[in-house]
Amino acid sequence: MAQKSYLFQSVIAENQPFVLGGRGIYLTVEDPVTHEVREIIDGNTSASVGSLGHGDPDIVQAMKDAAEECAYSFPLTTENHNAEDLAQFIVTHSPKDTFAAAVFVGSGSEANENMLRLVYQYHIENGQPQRSRFISRNQSYHGFTIGSISIADSNRFYNYKPVSLPAEQCLKVSECYEYQKRKPDESLEQYKDRLVKEVEDTFISAGPDTIGAFICETVSGSSLGCATPVPGYLEGIRDICHKYGALFVLDEVMCGMGRAGTYHAWEQFLPLNKGPDIQTIGKTLGSGYVTIAGVLVSPAVRDVFVNGSGVMPSAHTYQSHSFNCKVTLAVQKKIFENNLIENSKKMGDYLNASLKEKLKDSKIIGDIRGVGTFQGVELIKDKATKEPFDPKLNLGHRLADICYKDGMQILGLDGTVDGKKGDHMMFSPAYTVTKEEIDKIVSVFVQACDELEKELG
Ligand code: PLP
Repeated sequence: MAQKSYLFQSVIAENQPFVLGGRGIYLTVEDPVTHEVREIIDGNTSASVGSLGHGDPDIVQAMKDAAEECAYSFPLTTENHNAEDLAQFIVTHSPKDTFAAAVFVGSGSEANENMLRLVYQYHIENGQPQRSRFISRNQSYHGFTIGSISIADSNRFYNYKPVSLPAEQCLKVSECYEYQKRKPDESLEQYKDRLVKEVEDTFISAGPDTIGAFICETVSGSSLGCATPVPGYLEGIRDICHKYGALFVLDEVMCGMGRAGTYHAWEQFLPLNKGPDIQTIGKTLGSGYVTIAGVLVSPAVRDVFVNGSGVMPSAHTYQSHSFNCKVTLAVQKKIFENNLIENSKKMGDYLNASLKEKLKDSKIIGDIRGVGTFQGVELIKDKATKEPFDPKLNLGHRLADICYKDGMQILGLDGTVDGKKGDHMMFSPAYTVTKEEIDKIVSVFVQACDELEKELG
């Protein structure tokens, strides 16, 4: 077989376009066969990465400034002001007393890997080394390193043979997926109680003192197309974790840092004085300008380390990298100075309402859901029974392809392996998006849905 590329990756689509550049919510792409160059809307900021859009002059300037400072210095023997300032900025802009310390790494997977190690070490500090099991959820995604894959539903993504830590160490419970999984005769409250009870039953049957942490995404991104937690769900699980001495961890790599219309997505689903013990962040943190993600810990978690062995361990060569942190601080400051989290909420509400209005008669759209600029659309074969399309049809990808042809990139995800979930699409434009740009996004999408409906006959 002729070698087509010198890179390896999980998804190898035929003839992927080359990206030549970007400005605001637009990307310039080159067709690999015809070499035609055109501008398309970056409707999901590639993988929900962008908060500011492409080519922001202030961030480009911050990158120049950062490059002139210092190439690198080892974080275990030196401090840098940029990392310190970024950690302080995030801690002080979060609900009061929620977080006390942060570390910055290179990717969401690395952040989750770091978090899992911290959970082990926290319990060792506390004299409970047997707490080496995690509870997480089916239909979830947390990354592509061995630990983060293990707490995710590794059958969910990509066409690879699943790898994992031993299953008895990585227990799984049901996802929170009201649209498909709440029974017709079940109230929201009863559905929430059923899910929380399942978590408590899992603690009890595993042996409550063997569980280190429960981990979930606050709003499920690529795994469930922006499905939000039902009222009381996160608080119920947090209470169970604390009842049995485990940590409550939220993964906000995709839904956090303003994407959901609040700085942390959980601010909409938990009382502000009941945040997570540990939280991971990434993606829009650096808006794609730099590769950065992070782990935030609560004052109580930090105290266990400080009063124990005296250090919060983390030892990556590139952790809290000065260049990345300076650029990221510029991104974060710009988001607050320009009220872009409010804009993410306002434009997200408008996107949701426009999609609902324009697609109300569509035969293939089952559910439109989400918060802020984090909106998902679920495709459905039968609106009455909510029966999904055959996953083999790959309709999520097909619809994304039509959108691409018509001038917009959005993420399309196929049905699950077990076929119980409809394909879904994800919208996550930059927080800077305007009403006119949302109108364009909706217009391309509605037209693509019409085309797909016709194709299906
Ligand atoms: N956690 C969540 C919720 C994600 O959506 C992702 C990536 O999509 C990750 C973790 C892993 O992040 P990364 O791809 O930066 O390693």
